[in-house]
Amino acid sequence: MRIDLHTHSSASDGTDTPGDLVREAAAAGLDVVALTDHDAMSGWAEAQQAGDEVGITVVPGLEISTRYGHRGVHLLGYLPDPTHPALVLELDRILEGRTARTPAIVAALRAHGIDISEDDVRRESGGSVAAGRPHVADALARLGVVRDRTEAFATLLSPGQPGYVNRYASALEEMIPLLVDAGGVAVLAHPWGRGSRSVLSAEALAELKDLGLAGIEVDHQDHSAADRAELRAIAADLDLVVTGSSDHHGLGKVDHDLGVNTTAPEHYERLLSLAGPSLGG
Ligand code: AMP
Ligand code: FE
Ligand code: FE
Ligand code: ZN
Repeated sequence: MRIDLHTHSSASDGTDTPGDLVREAAAAGLDVVALTDHDAMSGWAEAQQAGDEVGITVVPGLEISTRYGHRGVHLLGYLPDPTHPALVLELDRILEGRTARTPAIVAALRAHGIDISEDDVRRESGGSVAAGRPHVADALARLGVVRDRTEAFATLLSPGQPGYVNRYASALEEMIPLLVDAGGVAVLAHPWGRGSRSVLSAEALAELKDLGLAGIEVDHQDHSAADRAELRAIAADLDLVVTGSSDHHGLGKVDHDLGVNTTAPEHYERLLSLAGPSLGG
């Protein structure tokens, strides 16, 4: 069984449609693929249909933008009820923050002397409800300002750079219980990637487990071999589910091919067993 629990489609900042992504996952020899678009569940139906057609299991999920100790932390949620009112409301708030940020980024880039318009970005974000910096990066690449997303993030779109604008994200300590209340399973995405190690110590992970955190993504391209070994030991110690995944973004991220990291079947089974209405009521 080959299981990849973290991928992005054009419903957020991946470059493949949800259907194409699932067909590619099947072609890559995966048995299970989770669709985890940023803050969005809008790709689920199309992905599920493609999964039924090609005979591969699609796990509906999402990657939620949260804040913890003044740092951005990504929280993977699997199998939540997509109609849970409080969850839908909070995701809408995040998506509104994304939508409002695009004009602000465009204005900041224009003030920096770059001739980019909101339409240029909209052309790239097309079918996505979760407009993001990757779409601005794609617009900048099409305009010839940068070569690709990597260069856009390295020079213009990251904190401290001319085109950086902050946006709303949920408090992690509130989002974990909310996700659990919606019947979802909460797993921290790449906990030690991109600087978040400073706020996600073993002690912090223990506290988050008390709030309902079920697992951590250990095998991820942003983690070194040493990080993975240390995180695996912490997960064993705290009895957390361990996942591995590609964080595939289509052509939007190099070195994140489908199946580059995978999740062990017994951890996947345990994750599934934790989904659904909580017995605590
Ligand atoms: P945003 O969601 O708008 O805050 O943008 C963050 C997203 O940009 C992340 O989810 C990544 O998928 C993507 N990203 C961040 N850094 C890079 C990079 N260097 N190259 C490509 N994509 C990136
Ligand atoms: Fe992304
Ligand atoms: Fe992420
Ligand atoms: Zn991701």
